[in-house]
Amino acid sequence: MNEILERYTAVTHRITQAAQRAGRNPNDITLVAVTKTWPAETVLAAYEAGMRQFGENRPEELAEKRTAVESQLGPDNGITWHLIGTLQSRKTSLAADHADVFHALDRLKIANRLSSHLLENRRLPENELSSAFRPLPSALPVFLEVNVSGEASKSGWDMRKWENSATQRDNLRNAAETIAGLPGLHLVGLMTMAPWDAPEAEIRSVFRRTRELSMWLDAEIAVAQITQLSMGMTDDFEIAIEEGATHIRVGRAIFGSRT
Ligand SMILES: *Cc1c(COP(=O)(O)O)cnc(C)c1O
Repeated sequence: MNEILERYTAVTHRITQAAQRAGRNPNDITLVAVTKTWPAETVLAAYEAGMRQFGENRPEELAEKRTAVESQLGPDNGITWHLIGTLQSRKTSLAADHADVFHALDRLKIANRLSSHLLENRRLPENELSSAFRPLPSALPVFLEVNVSGEASKSGWDMRKWENSATQRDNLRNAAETIAGLPGLHLVGLMTMAPWDAPEAEIRSVFRRTRELSMWLDAEIAVAQITQLSMGMTDDFEIAIEEGATHIRVGRAIFGSRT
C-alpha cells in the first residue's frame, strides 16, 4: 500500500514537471493506472491511494476485476475503467458491457459491433436514442489506434507515411467519419504506442507526428472533435506529455514489474 502511494506520488510529480516544461496544465492530463495482471486487491489499494482511472488490456480481466472491485466498493465508486488493449471481434460484447472508455479501436468491424451491442443495451436508454444531439451522453468514448512508427507488431491504422500518403489519410478520414456517425460510440481522439527501445528522438517524433495527425483529422471531419491523445507508458510518458498527450497509460511505474 505505502509503496503504491509512494510510486503514485512520484509519478504525479513527474507528470506535473513534464507538463510545466511544456507550458501545459497538469490537470489536463489523465493518468490511467494500468492494473493488468494485478489482482483486484491491488486496484483497491490504488483506490485507497486516491486513483480513480484504471486500465486493463483484456476484456475478460476487466470484467472480472470490475465485478470484484464493485462487490467491495459498490457500483457508484467514482472509478472509470479504460480498456486499452486491442479487441478481438468475438469479445466486443464483453468490452461494451464493462469498459467506460476504449483506447484501442483499430478496425471498423469492431466499431460496428461495439455500437450495435451498446444500442441493444441498457447503456443507451430510449430517451437518449430519440435525442437529436450527438454524441449521446452515454455513448462509449473511443480512441482510434494509429500505427505511426510502422512497427509491424503494432496494430491500428497504418499511418507510418501519413504526411506523404493520401491513401493513408483517406483511410483514416473515412473510418473516422463512419465511426463518428455510430450512435453507440463517441470518437474523442487518437491512441498510439511508441516503438520499443528506440532512441528518444524517434519516440518523440512518433508522438509529435501523432499529435499533428490528430490536428489534421480534427480539421478534416466536422462531425467529431478529435481533441484527446492517448500516448505514453512507463518508459516514455514524460516525452508523451511534452508532445501533447492528454491520457497516459502507466503500469510498472506505479505497481512495479509484472511477474
Ligand atoms: C501494459 C500496457 C500499458 C502500460 O505499460 P507499462 O509499461 O507498465 O507502463 C500501456 N498501454 C498498453 C496498451 C498496455 O498494454
